Amino acid sequence: MNIIIFGPPGAGKGTQAKNLVKKLRSFQVSTGDMLREEIKRDTEIGKKIINNMNDGKFVEDEIVNSLLEKIIFDPTKINKLIFDGYPRTINQAKNLEILLKTSNQKIDHIFYLNVNKDSIIKRIQKRKVLEKRIDDNANTILKRYDVYMEITKPVLAFYSKNKNFHEVDGSMEIADISQKIEEILKV
Ligand code: AMP
Repeated sequence: MNIIIFGPPGAGKGTQAKNLVKKLRSFQVSTGDMLREEIKRDTEIGKKIINNMNDGKFVEDEIVNSLLEKIIFDPTKINKLIFDGYPRTINQAKNLEILLKTSNQKIDHIFYLNVNKDSIIKRIQKRKVLEKRIDDNANTILKRYDVYMEITKPVLAFYSKNKNFHEVDGSMEIADISQKIEEILKV
């Protein structure tokens, strides 16, 4: 089963993705984690993307798409992918369709974690203390939210007519959100 967890920054996509990884013995596909790892390892990609990441801007589609390809075509991960933070643009959503089709896969479920701006800001400030992420400072948080509203939220229209699209109230407690998702998936 391949699943997309969609929602604004700070909606709890990573947390819910990790829960599903355990429950379904799947693999989390977090482009944000992959990009932060490139920065940590100070690779060529890391050097190219550090400014965009720190400013809350998107990394170029070509870079993100190339990181993604390796995972989608990995035979050990086929039909066991939990996408968290991808796709974020219409172009990425189209790219994902093509990559999945080419590897004989599809998206089985899309969960949209809907959370309002105030809750997001509070959550990210908390996460900043807990996870010490480089891109969790006040300006970047607001920038990331604006970029989400402008560029990523329209991607919802791409998926929302799909019968496997599920909107979940992302302001609920973590355990309640997990329970809701698991109920829908019947796992
Ligand atoms: P995340 O960990 O998903 O919140 O992502 C953190 C940051 O990584 C974003 O603010 C972007 O700068 C970058 N990023 C992560 N995923 C993508 C993506 N799919 N496309 C472009 N940039 C991304």
